[in-house]
Amino acid sequence: MLPFRLVYHEGYDLHLGDHVFPSKKFKWLHDRLLSTRFAVPEDFTAPEPATDDDVRLVHDAEWVAKLRNGTLTYQDILRLEIPYSRQMVEAFWLAAGGTMLTTRLALRDRVGFNIGGGFHHAFPAHGEGFCAIHDVAIAIRRLQRDGEIRRAMVVDCDVHHGNGTAAIFTGDPSVFTLSIHQFNNYPTEKPPSSLDIHMPDGASDDEYLHRLANGYRAALLMFHPELLVYVAGADPYCEDQLGGLSMSFDGLRERDRLVIWTALTHQVPVAIVLAGGYAQSVEDTISIHANTAAVAKDVLEKVA
Ligand SMILES: [Zn+2]
Repeated sequence: MLPFRLVYHEGYDLHLGDHVFPSKKFKWLHDRLLSTRFAVPEDFTAPEPATDDDVRLVHDAEWVAKLRNGTLTYQDILRLEIPYSRQMVEAFWLAAGGTMLTTRLALRDRVGFNIGGGFHHAFPAHGEGFCAIHDVAIAIRRLQRDGEIRRAMVVDCDVHHGNGTAAIFTGDPSVFTLSIHQFNNYPTEKPPSSLDIHMPDGASDDEYLHRLANGYRAALLMFHPELLVYVAGADPYCEDQLGGLSMSFDGLRERDRLVIWTALTHQVPVAIVLAGGYAQSVEDTISIHANTAAVAKDVLEKVA
């Protein structure tokens, strides 16, 4: 068995049909990890959905009610950029429950891995960019409320800026937010994170890893969180349809190693969530996410 749990639920599928967001990727990654014998069925654990009370730790009651009752306006749905359905709402609540479970498992096992989550574009009172509710923020707020942790850090390596994360935790000294992203990309408005690393179009592995290492190491040592949530987006990949960086499989693996190794060697547990990934070939997206799980296993075994 793996030295950490893989959190997964069949209901993670957002049922988007023919959409640039491959919402079956959660199931496909689950299947890949089994078919390659990286994992056995006992490595997986299924979450409960978050409760509405959990979701309201971050989101306005009005936005939660709109999602629950199906009363989104045309404007709400345009901003969300995904079709509304009951299954979609259930999937977001499950993803939030999944990230909540993953963070608890990370505190127990030093690493937790959610085969889902990372919906970093959700704001307290609206959703956008395929993100209805912010699973990462909900999980952090719940741990803080329960007195499990005080200080958390979010390291967001999705190619798109973590605008929802930045907005939710702005002015809150208990949560450090780091986002490294392509500057000339969605979202056009980027509310400031604690640390933003703006990458130019077409940035290479070397440039990316150099900038990330400098900013991240300094931030981790200075802030010393009790938990790190790693938003391990697959979309900095050179063949991503919604990204404009030039990272290779190897570069993304080095990125994973840098984030996870640095945290674990400083006694900071790591909860990993997937976020975006829109490669021309969905198989590439699955491979990048599978590589992140493999790096987590390797690092955890080495620091043990
Ligand atoms: Zn993204």
